[in-house]
Amino acid sequence: MSEKLNEQLEKVNKHKFQQDLIGWFENEMRDLPWRKDQDPYRIWVSEIMLQQTRVDTVIPFYNRFMGQFPTVEALANAPEEQVLKAWEGLGYYSRARNLHTAVKEVHECYGGKVPKTPEEIASLRGVGPYTAGAILSIAYDIPEPAVDGNVMRVFSRILSIWDDVAKPSSRKVFEEAVRRLIDENNPSYFNQALMELGALICTPTSPSCLLCPVNEHCLAFAEGVQSELPVKTRKKSTKVIDLLTVMVQNQEGQWLVTQRPSEGLLANLWQFPSVERQGHESVSRELEEFLLTDIGVTAEVYDEPWMKQDHVFSHLTWKMSVYYTDKLSVFDDAPILPERVAWKTADEIEGLALPISYRKIWRQHLIDNEKNDEIGEK
Ligand code: SF4
Repeated sequence: MSEKLNEQLEKVNKHKFQQDLIGWFENEMRDLPWRKDQDPYRIWVSEIMLQQTRVDTVIPFYNRFMGQFPTVEALANAPEEQVLKAWEGLGYYSRARNLHTAVKEVHECYGGKVPKTPEEIASLRGVGPYTAGAILSIAYDIPEPAVDGNVMRVFSRILSIWDDVAKPSSRKVFEEAVRRLIDENNPSYFNQALMELGALICTPTSPSCLLCPVNEHCLAFAEGVQSELPVKTRKKSTKVIDLLTVMVQNQEGQWLVTQRPSEGLLANLWQFPSVERQGHESVSRELEEFLLTDIGVTAEVYDEPWMKQDHVFSHLTWKMSVYYTDKLSVFDDAPILPERVAWKTADEIEGLALPISYRKIWRQHLIDNEKNDEIGEK
């Protein structure tokens, strides 16, 4: 630990800090479904869902997921398709896949009990240092730090730490700082209180310092520099992909769908046929070529897109343009479709695990269809 950080830590009255922080949490904690008990499986699922996703968004997904997979055994025995379907709408599907793999391992190798040593728990797929610390401290009362972006922000202010939180090496600094201040008698509440403080009071852009239960311990507040912390270098700009999507319906009213590769982004999820824009010719020609050469389907694609939308991932943005084909000119002239390509009815599409961007396209299609039917009836 650097001398500077040591000096900063010595300025904090550890016992009083813990009392103020935990006392506030006991009075103000939000009533969240994963706080009903200390079941490590439930806490694990909630922590995975909460990565990159807001609490309000997670709650209904969590309740539904727990209804379907209430135990390690239930999730371990579920087929992946069903797990991905239950995760649909939360995004970042690799989280669901990793959770599923790790839960199977817990079921097979640990008799269904989530392990409680840092080494064992950190060896599970998708369980990084933050999640390991959260499960160990919240479920098992083991004084391990659980440092994520929220906690780094709060601690950078309380201890006036100017290390760049965007650098992976900075995490160690914050973990060490939390280890020094954590309440060994109540690490569960200590870590949850830090997370709660970051979510409700010590927020990214305008921390409510006057309402803050630990403002008398906060070095950044004392120095008036809280809005300059944490130090965070900008991320590199994200890649932008022009993605063309085409909605093809056959004479039986089924829709053409393709399954994404088993590795990489949104692996194994279903989508409407899509291809990156090459830009050599008109979009409709490009899509017609793609349908013919990649899927073996002949269709006439409309010149104008029916819908446009952007979908932003952490590292790239899809600029999506969605086209219809002329239903009457679609011929299913390739009776055997390639692997991972299928015709599906509207009902079957409802049951497929689609990425959120394609689910939005499908919903919009249904809305437009309903409007057209209403106009037709008038
Ligand atoms: S006093 Fe302000 S900056 Fe310090 S921890 Fe509280 S809210 Fe954050």
